[in-house]
Amino acid sequence: MTDRISHWIDGKPFTGTAERSGEVFDPATGQVRAHVDFAGDAEVEAAVAAAKAALPGWRGTSLAGRTRVLFAFRELLAARKHELAKIVTSEHGKVESDAAGEVARAIENVEYACGAAQLLKGGFSENASTGVDVYSIAQPLGVVGVISPFNFPAMVPLWFVPNALACGNTVVLKPSEKDPSAAVFIAELLAEAGLPAGALNVLHGDKVAVDGLLSHSDVKAISFVGSTPIARYVYETGTRHGKRVQALGGAKNHMVVLPDADLDLAADAAVSAGFGSAGERCMAVSVVVAVDPIGDDLVAKITERMSRLRVGDGRDPASEMGPLVTKAHHARVASYVDAGVSEGASLVVDGRGIEVSGSSEGFWLGPTLFDHVRTDMSIYTDEIFGPVLSVARTASYDDALELINANPYGNGVAIFTGDGSSARRFQNEVEVGMVGVNVPIPVPVGYYSFGGWKDSLFGDSHAYGPEGFHFFTRTKVVTSRWPDRSHAGVNLGFPRNS
Ligand code: NAD
Repeated sequence: MTDRISHWIDGKPFTGTAERSGEVFDPATGQVRAHVDFAGDAEVEAAVAAAKAALPGWRGTSLAGRTRVLFAFRELLAARKHELAKIVTSEHGKVESDAAGEVARAIENVEYACGAAQLLKGGFSENASTGVDVYSIAQPLGVVGVISPFNFPAMVPLWFVPNALACGNTVVLKPSEKDPSAAVFIAELLAEAGLPAGALNVLHGDKVAVDGLLSHSDVKAISFVGSTPIARYVYETGTRHGKRVQALGGAKNHMVVLPDADLDLAADAAVSAGFGSAGERCMAVSVVVAVDPIGDDLVAKITERMSRLRVGDGRDPASEMGPLVTKAHHARVASYVDAGVSEGASLVVDGRGIEVSGSSEGFWLGPTLFDHVRTDMSIYTDEIFGPVLSVARTASYDDALELINANPYGNGVAIFTGDGSSARRFQNEVEVGMVGVNVPIPVPVGYYSFGGWKDSLFGDSHAYGPEGFHFFTRTKVVTSRWPDRSHAGVNLGFPRNS
């Protein structure tokens, strides 16, 4: 018998018809650890109806009341962060220290949402015209949908859910079917924190659940994170149905190393950001761009560090890198290593066939390094989303910049240099949404916002932070007069300010 993971609707587990389900694996053993219910139309309807029914009460809850729930949630999350990290590791495979980092960043987003009272203040213009005041109010959108990817099963839902709730919306969260338990844990903690039933619902499943949310007339907005083809589809379908949509997509993140960089710092950063979470991060470094003449030295330093990486079960504190999430994903990533070889890149470190103590059935792929990668190779053009790092070489800064700006993705990028003016020029010229200067994974803190450019984000709002509050509210402007006895009488002219 394996566990069954059910939807969470109206403040409790919801079993529904459960006509379809999916397998959830322990990636380190390759075994099925649970089955997750997949939503059909009836479950979509039940989740949206519960969120709609909860809306008047939650929207009407005072700012103080909503903030109290979020504070209590923050405290519960902090107290139980290790439990949540273990859940993430058990289904995703990333090592527990990495999962703990994910949870820590998630908590920062809850802390930001606790500032709702300040963040939702509108503007007020007294006496805009004689005796007339004008003011703005930020109101919730209604029921909103959040659709999240497998690679951050706790953090990405918590990029959106706290802000959406803080603004007075109610939510249907559709987590990845590959690692759905973190979302249920979050919903249980929010209920314990005092969130009313129905204000957050968790709907499990696949395309059927996503399409149900995209076409439902009671869902007013969608926040999506996932791969670029699905992000584009979600954006186009959701907006066609009249919804506000932000859809964050995939990435191909470059790290430029200039000749004046500290090469030890750069090599450490490339290995950390290339192989952390087995490369399954949207901000993972995928391509190191070595500017002549430091390529050989840099590759040697990266290779030396890779030889010391410990791959193993994420529950073992000695492990630094875990398995890939599923067998299918493992096969896909391994096929890119084959392609890189046949396309003529130099395979410096081959992670295929790695032997890991423990279960041989786990979805293991060791850290892999290619050198002399060209932009026409599939290992360069495609998002691999695994522990495969490419080194491309360029003759100059200008060539490096041109290469990056020609790439269709624009999520994250980093420059390593000892020269402030080169860094400053780069941050100005590069067409990427998040830039690191001697920082390889420039994920903005919770009080900025997260978002890529070009094919890495569809829509005009970035995630969380100030843009998150903007996304989850709509502005109403009130023009108000309390007439005294001397009002001007009938006037058919266009109103003028006097
Ligand atoms: P994915 O696109 O396969 O799935 C994302 C979500 O969409 C899941 O909830 C999934 O159930 C759903 N989905 C999958 N196929 C669908 C379909 N045909 N129709 C409708 N819905 C569908 O992504 P993933 O593999 O879970 O996550 C990895 C991807 O997410 C990578 O491309 C990564 O770069 C990206 N990502 C981006 C960011 C960012 O902020 N830009 C953050 C994390 C992950």
